[in-house]
Amino acid sequence: MSKNTPKAIRGTQDIFGADAEAFAFVVETFERVRKLYRFRRVEMPVFEKTEVFSRAIGETTDVVSKEMYSFEDRGGDSLTLRPEFTAGISRAFLTNGWQQHAPLKVATHGPLFRYERPQKGRYRQFHQIDAEIIGAAEPQADVELLAMADQLLKELGIEGVALHLNTLGDAESRDAWRAGLIEYFGAVKGELSEDSQERLEKNPLRILDSKDPRDRAFVADAPKIDAFLSDDALAFFDAVTSGLDAAGVKWTRATSLVRGLDYYRHTAFEFIPDEGSAAATALGAQSTVLGGGRYDGLMESLGGPATPAVGWAAGIERLAMLVGEKAEEPADVIMVVEDERWNEISDGILAELRRNDLFSEIVSTGSLKKRFDKARKMEPRTILVLGSRGEQLEATLKYFDQTTRSSEIYDAVKSRVLPKFVKQELREG
Ligand code: ATP
Ligand code: MG
Repeated sequence: MSKNTPKAIRGTQDIFGADAEAFAFVVETFERVRKLYRFRRVEMPVFEKTEVFSRAIGETTDVVSKEMYSFEDRGGDSLTLRPEFTAGISRAFLTNGWQQHAPLKVATHGPLFRYERPQKGRYRQFHQIDAEIIGAAEPQADVELLAMADQLLKELGIEGVALHLNTLGDAESRDAWRAGLIEYFGAVKGELSEDSQERLEKNPLRILDSKDPRDRAFVADAPKIDAFLSDDALAFFDAVTSGLDAAGVKWTRATSLVRGLDYYRHTAFEFIPDEGSAAATALGAQSTVLGGGRYDGLMESLGGPATPAVGWAAGIERLAMLVGEKAEEPADVIMVVEDERWNEISDGILAELRRNDLFSEIVSTGSLKKRFDKARKMEPRTILVLGSRGEQLEATLKYFDQTTRSSEIYDAVKSRVLPKFVKQELREG
């Protein structure tokens, strides 16, 4: 690398090796679970018109006011790299007439972009898995999504992370709560952080979410949503919690949990590591792995008909940090050609190994000793050596363990792969 080699953009990551395996494990497990729950796959554009996000997420949110990557393209349109999935999926629901599929259960994953201060677990390009149910007003949809999230974390082997659940009420309850919060925090305005003083009139719920110690001192005694809930909102929340109990999903009530975006109604939730758990240590200061809620007001902000919906998203990097490093799978067969005469036939054997579902590779550079050293270092299940006896090709399979997989490999190499190339028996070495 010379001095003028361009560096990676701040806040981006090049993921490789065991970390990349952990990342892939998260995505593969998510794919399996979303099929289990019968969510349909969608692929979304990485950029949208800026107004998709500013209207859906809300101008006063951190995401829209500080974190978006927006630019004018050559045609003069203001575009934004997606900072989240929900707004784009909602736009697609309206522009493609997906109403006909409602209630529509969709899932996706991919990169997102936010201009944030990079640190452990917080990047400018990060990745999420995302699941949404659009066009479902019933609390069963909330329960299904939460059960799915819970099962996903279990299948990833993640422990010490708990579901924190709250309700933000319906529009009526939320407005009353909002007024109560403005009154309460207004009385101590001078003692709040500068950010929260600014939030007070525009977005007082966000003060509850503040990490600033000056704000935290007042959050514990702030008015709770429960005092403002309408009968309908209360009944909805009761149905969600009893559904979770019936589904065997553990949850705890978090009365000051709010989400950073304007569009949430009723259910709001986050999966957060328990204090002092290994998960909390692994994540450091970034606490939330998975978050979401109900966003019944969002479609209208995009000019669509009122459409109830609920969804969640989780950071793949943060989940991967909790999964820990995943070793790359060992190869079934590493092939080493001992005698150059068999170079050509080795291509055929390698292709045949792979056609027989054996995870295989050839080591073909360096001296013979180097090749064997390299092959052993890869810690494969077996090494297949192509050597000679007289004029004949002699194949030897060296074992490194006594697993059923090794005997499957032996059987496949002996009875399906080699007979296509050699008359002789397979030697064991
Ligand atoms: P935070 O409070 O950590 O900023 P958020 O509320 O902004 O999170 P959401 O918009 O709800 O996050 O996104 C859902 C999930 O996406 C988060 O719980 C987290 O796992 C992940 N996430 C959000 N922002 C980032 C980021 N900059 N880098 C890595 N992961 C992120
Ligand atoms: Mg954030």
